[in-house]
Amino acid sequence: MATLACKNFFNGRWETGVTTGISTNPSDLDEVVAEYARADRNQTDLAIRAAADAGPAWAFSTPQRRADALDTIGHELLARRDELGTLLAREEGKTLPEATAEVARAGQIFKFFAGEALRTGGERLASTRVGVDVEVTREPVGVVGLIAPWNFPFAIPAWKIAPALAFGNSVVFKPAELVPACGWALAEIISRAGLPAGVFNLVMGSGRQVGQALVDSPLVQAISFTGSVGTGRQILKDTAERGTKVQLEMGGKNPLVVLADADLDQAVDCAVQGAFFSTGQRCTASSRLIVENRILDRFVSRLRERTGALKVGHALQRDTQIGPVVDAQQLQQNLEYVGIAREEGAEHLVGGETLERATRGHFMAPALLLAEPQHRVAREEIFGPVACVLRADSYEHALELANDTPFGLCAGICTTSLKHATHFKRHAQVGMTMVNLPTAGVDHHVPFGGRKASSHGSREQGRYAAEFYTTVKTAYTQA
Ligand code: NAD
Repeated sequence: MATLACKNFFNGRWETGVTTGISTNPSDLDEVVAEYARADRNQTDLAIRAAADAGPAWAFSTPQRRADALDTIGHELLARRDELGTLLAREEGKTLPEATAEVARAGQIFKFFAGEALRTGGERLASTRVGVDVEVTREPVGVVGLIAPWNFPFAIPAWKIAPALAFGNSVVFKPAELVPACGWALAEIISRAGLPAGVFNLVMGSGRQVGQALVDSPLVQAISFTGSVGTGRQILKDTAERGTKVQLEMGGKNPLVVLADADLDQAVDCAVQGAFFSTGQRCTASSRLIVENRILDRFVSRLRERTGALKVGHALQRDTQIGPVVDAQQLQQNLEYVGIAREEGAEHLVGGETLERATRGHFMAPALLLAEPQHRVAREEIFGPVACVLRADSYEHALELANDTPFGLCAGICTTSLKHATHFKRHAQVGMTMVNLPTAGVDHHVPFGGRKASSHGSREQGRYAAEFYTTVKTAYTQA
């Protein structure tokens, strides 16, 4: 397929970078998906300046204008889901059905926030003083820097860009280096949606140059970041002195508890889907399968069989269930973790080896290990198709293990007991819980985010996005 030429977009114009980079297809390393413009700090500063200049007029634009623009973007994403899904599958490696669904979800997110632009309201309260009115309103924050990871290259940018624009902010968007073509394709649609020049800007390049310029700029009032814990914490430190508003969505080590009373088929389905689909490259992946002793053998034997039978291959092939790992470095890390687990004494149940296919790609058989809670494979985020099973003596023990992690994004339980499901929903120390569902796979119209080392700041998505993308004003009037 043809190689795309992707430029940056700022101040309403398409611009070349200071250097050019490429992205390759992880299913076929001989295919260059895109040649893209890489900006430096100076160019990023120009984009930030353009956003700052365009900000005030956009902030006072009518909600109808913002709603129309977002609706146009959402409509086009939905209409082009197959074509853009193919691009996503080529550049990131998720399977075609997963990629198409992601593009559709991005479209739905824009449509949701088109509605939110019109619904932005406030409150009017009686004052404690006679003859005084009090109004509480929401205003845009200003210039927002949006820094995205590679694993959901349409959906994550969508759930940052859409609310930012809906509430009247101007945007500088930096996609991850592995997926520039997806970022560019989204920007190309946004560039034709009738926004004034400078309201939306795309700047591609490295985290150290482009990302850091956003973090360091006094003109950027808010940063929404999704990525690794290390980068997120560094951003928090770097912005602390200036008091920039920061929202961080970071890693996960999500537990799926399987109790002895669970529907076994359903539990195995949840485990396979949650642990291995999207090649395990989801912050919500179920990487710790905490199984009650009484069904451990039956569960493990079924899960091992299902895992071993998963079809790993080229993301565009029809029968592929698990696409390639995103790049050589991530593949290496996955393989190393399987090795470390074995050295630490975990039992290697299935998978964990590289696979040869017709094309040169980063193919890996999903790996399953029977581990102990202190093993690194059970504690550290791997971000690949590597999952471990942990034994639990009882529900109480399973809950204790589920919460025994520095992370707190999501947690699932498979059970037919209402009592345990209800208790788990209340006591899991996470931002999202799932009962008889995989931990990965969430709705776009409700809050997304976690606790502990997984998240910082207010939630993304749904109506809760207003917390981050607006600032509240309290106005007093003497009648
Ligand atoms: P990463 O931290 O390496 O990069 C994320 C983004 O930050 C990229 O655009 C990168 O270029 C940029 N960046 C790097 N250094 C920077 C700096 N100094 N200043 C500013 N920006 C900088 O993460 P990744 O490898 O792209 O993504 C994988 C990680 O993302 C995993 O840890 C995963 O759990 C996490 N993730 C979390 C969620 C969530 O919502 N919790 C969702 C998806 C992915």
